Amino acid sequence: MSAVLEQFLNENLQELKEKGLYNEIDPLESPNGPVITIKGKTLINLSSNNYLGLATDERLKKVAMEAVAKYGVGAGAVRTINGTLDLHVKLEETIAKFKGTEAAIAYQSGFNCNMAAISAVMDKNDAILSDELNHASIIDGCRLSKATIIRFNHSDMDDLRKKAKEAKESGKYRKIMVITDGVFSMDGDIAKLPEIVEIAKEFDLIVYVDDAHGSGVTGKGAGTVKHFGLEKEVDFQIGTLSKAIGVVGGYVAGKKNLIDWLKVRSRPFLFSTAVTPADAAAAAKAIEILMESTELNDRLWENGRYLKQGLKDLGFDIGHSETPITPCIIGDEKLTQLFSKRLYEEGVYAKAIVYPTVPRGTGRVRNMPTAAHTKEMLDQALSVYEKVGKELGIL
Ligand SMILES: *Cc1c(COP(=O)(O)O)cnc(C)c1O
Repeated sequence: MSAVLEQFLNENLQELKEKGLYNEIDPLESPNGPVITIKGKTLINLSSNNYLGLATDERLKKVAMEAVAKYGVGAGAVRTINGTLDLHVKLEETIAKFKGTEAAIAYQSGFNCNMAAISAVMDKNDAILSDELNHASIIDGCRLSKATIIRFNHSDMDDLRKKAKEAKESGKYRKIMVITDGVFSMDGDIAKLPEIVEIAKEFDLIVYVDDAHGSGVTGKGAGTVKHFGLEKEVDFQIGTLSKAIGVVGGYVAGKKNLIDWLKVRSRPFLFSTAVTPADAAAAAKAIEILMESTELNDRLWENGRYLKQGLKDLGFDIGHSETPITPCIIGDEKLTQLFSKRLYEEGVYAKAIVYPTVPRGTGRVRNMPTAAHTKEMLDQALSVYEKVGKELGIL
């Protein structure tokens, strides 16, 4: 290895470890369900994004296996050459129906989708107003577009209005876009979309909502845009097929001409192979299940409310979540890591989330209850939380 690289890696890894910021990855020996196995140990799982338990749903497994039997394991090419299977088309039609839009385009992941969609429309002559807590993939997608990035304070509508006005009146930009997460994943709060849309109308902004954590969760499952009834006002509805949908992939839902443009101009669609037949079939099935019934969604919210109330009653700071996402804010990074480690030893898997994923000094253990958890599992987790909280002097 090059001496320069060796020194760079040693110094930086050492620094992260000393600061308690080095993340150890624990491979699972089981499906990512409500109970998981790591190194032979059984744990109650409060860290997945598998909100509705669909990652292990028998109906999805069945259509995935049928897709493998009929089409094989790979799409064989990028979508624009001949990697578009009828399964991909069906998936996109299903997404459009689910989101109440004219059309949709599917990508390989939500991350990839933000890399693709922003820079297909925005360039160096444009500006993007971006919530300071937006997801990393939005930040990277904005940077890739070379547009001027103007950050506004988190969900601060006065700040957004002021910055939108300045940008518009400066006359410096051809197009201006506002981008926000639909649901903010670290705190579980919902974007103020009605106000954002109002400001967008006032200053002629393109509206881009990445609802990765909202889809399948808010709006009885249909997502945050539908929750507010703003399907006509939001230009880009972004989502992922990897969280509540339980598979993998990302998408944009919107007007047909927007989707037509993305199909000829978004680079990951043109230059990276499509998701596998099994993925496309399973994701379409998951969305069909969501459109047919709110049963899983109802159970998710019920479990979310139950866990939240339980942690609050114990005396934990659970922040201001409006969704099933339930942070337990500890503060200090090292104490947060220790708390998570002790939960693990006692049989609860709830991952520590620290800087740089969240601001310094706001380290937290984030709990993701799902539709697949039972009350018994949540009660058991709560009793472990109580024990460890008291032991570490947090309660
Ligand atoms: C998780 C997430 C993504 C990435 O989605 P993947 O499909 O896992 O790549 C993108 N945007 C937001 C807001 C997310 O929360």
